[in-house]
Amino acid sequence: MAPPVRIAALGGLGEVGMNCTVVECDGRIAVIDCGILFPNENLGVDLIAPDLSWLEERHAQVGGIFVTHGHEDHIGALPFLLRKVRAPVYAPRFALELLRNRCAEMGIEADLREVKPGDARDLGDGSPLRVEFVRMTHSIPDACALALRTPQGVIFHSGDFKLDETPVVGRAFDLPRLEALGKSGVRLLLSDSTNAERPGRTLSEAAVAPGLEEVFGRAEGRVFVACFASNIGRIQQVGQAARAEGRRVALLGRAMDQNVRLARDLGYLSFAGWQGCSLEEARELPPRELCVLTTGTQGEPRSALARLARGEHPELRVDPGDTVILSSRHIPGNELAVGQVVNDLCRRGAEVVYEGGPRLHVSGHASEDEQRRLIRLLRPERFVPVHGEYRQLSRHAAHAAAEGVAHRHLLLDGEVLELSDEGARVLPDKLPVGRVYTDREALAGEDMGALVVKDRRLLAEAGLCTVVLVVDKATGAVVRGPDLFAVGVAGFEGAEAELRAEAARALEELSPGARADVAEVQEALRVAVRRFFRKAGGRRPTVLPVVLEL
Ligand SMILES: [Zn+2]
Repeated sequence: MAPPVRIAALGGLGEVGMNCTVVECDGRIAVIDCGILFPNENLGVDLIAPDLSWLEERHAQVGGIFVTHGHEDHIGALPFLLRKVRAPVYAPRFALELLRNRCAEMGIEADLREVKPGDARDLGDGSPLRVEFVRMTHSIPDACALALRTPQGVIFHSGDFKLDETPVVGRAFDLPRLEALGKSGVRLLLSDSTNAERPGRTLSEAAVAPGLEEVFGRAEGRVFVACFASNIGRIQQVGQAARAEGRRVALLGRAMDQNVRLARDLGYLSFAGWQGCSLEEARELPPRELCVLTTGTQGEPRSALARLARGEHPELRVDPGDTVILSSRHIPGNELAVGQVVNDLCRRGAEVVYEGGPRLHVSGHASEDEQRRLIRLLRPERFVPVHGEYRQLSRHAAHAAAEGVAHRHLLLDGEVLELSDEGARVLPDKLPVGRVYTDREALAGEDMGALVVKDRRLLAEAGLCTVVLVVDKATGAVVRGPDLFAVGVAGFEGAEAELRAEAARALEELSPGARADVAEVQEALRVAVRRFFRKAGGRRPTVLPVVLEL
C-alpha cells in the first residue's frame, strides 16, 4: 500500500494573498510559496502574514521550500518562516535574486538554491516526494508551475499563470511538458482561480504595446508611467515606446530601481545605451524628452506617484501638460486611494490615462478559456481551485466540472485533503490557520508579536519616566506637580529633585498661550526630561507626560 499524501493551504484559499501550501507524505513536508497579504483597510499595519505555527512546530520535517515566482503574495512571508525553518529554498532565478536581496537586508541566513525549468528536486532523507519546475507565463519573469511526483501520483500546482504565447520577456509556457504530464496522468490539479469570473482569455503582455505607442505619440510634456516594479515585460515595452519618441527614462522609487537593475543584470531588460538617465539629468531635460517610470498604481499614500500627485516629491514635479499613465488595474479595495491620486494629478493639470482608455494593461492571470485549456491539457482526476476568494474558487470548480473533472474539492485555509489508495477525503481536523498583523521591521525580528515587542524593548533598555502635572481647568494655574515617577531608569533616585526643578523651569518658559494648551505643556515636559537624562549620561528612557485638568 502506498503511503497517503496530505495537502493543505495555510493561506490563499478564500483570499487573494498570503499564499502558502503544504504537502506532507511519510513524515516529510514540502512547502509551496509563503506570501503576505496587503491590508486594504486602515489597520495601522503594513502587511498581513499567515500564521505559520503549524510549520514552525514541524520545522525538522520540512525538507524543502519551493517558490513558484517572486511576487510578494508568494515570497513576502518567507524571510519570517526562514527564521524558524532551516530548509533549502528552491526558486527560479528572478524570485531567487529578489529573495537574496530581501534576506540580506533583513540579516537572515538562508539556503537559497536556484532552479531552472525542467529541474526536479527531492526532500532528502529518502522522501518519496520529488518536485519538478515547469515553465509558465505570468506578469513577472521566471514564473513556474510545480509537478510533484508522489506515491499517490502527480500533483500539479499551477502557481500564478496565464497562457501567454508572446510574453515579451522570457519564453512562452512549456506546452510540450504540460501535454506530456497530461498523457502520463495527473492525480490532482491545484490551479490559479484569480480570473475565474472573466470569460474568454487574457490578452498577451505584447498587447499593451499599441496603447503605449498611441499615448506616447500624442504626449507633449513629460510622460510618467506607473506600473508594478516586477512587471519587467511591461517596463520593457514602456522603454520601447519611450525610445521610439526619443525620450530618456528615469526611475523613481526604490522598488523600481532595484527591480530594473536586477532585470538588466540578468539580461531580461534592454534599454538603448543613451536611454537611462539620473534624476538630476531628468530635471534638466526638456519635458518632451523625458519618461519617468515609477510605482504606486494602488494609490499607496507613501509611494512616489502619490507624492508627485500631492506636489510633495523632493526630486520631480508634475506640471500642466504632462501625461500620467497608470499601467495597471486597481486591486479591489483600493478604489478610494487610487481615486485620490487621480484627483490630485488632474488638479495639477496632468492628463491621466488609466482604466477605460486605450489598452495599457493586461492581467497576469488566466481567464476562463485558459483555465479550461490547462485542465484539458493535464486531464486531472481531481481538482482543487486555489488563489482566490470563495466566489472565484467556486466558479473555477464549475469550469473544471464543465471540462469533465469528476472530483472537485472546494477547500479553505487549513482544510486537509488526503489522497490515498482508497481515493480522497477531507480530514475531520483542520490545521491551525490565521492572520498575523505585522510590519516589515517586525518580519525581520525574532518574534511575530514584534510591534509590541519593539515598545517593550525600548522600555527594557532604558525604562519609563512619567511626569504628572495637575492644572486648574479655568485658570491654567499649576495645582500640583510636576511630580516624577520612574520604573527601571538608572540614576533616577539621586536626580529626582533636580529633574523636578528642570521640568518646572520648562513650564515657566512657556508663553501664556502655550500654557493653556495641554499638548504644548506635555511636549515641553517631555523635551525637558529627555534633555536632562541625555545630559546626565546619555540615557533615553521613554518619557510619558500626563497633564490633568481639574
Ligand atoms: Zn503572481
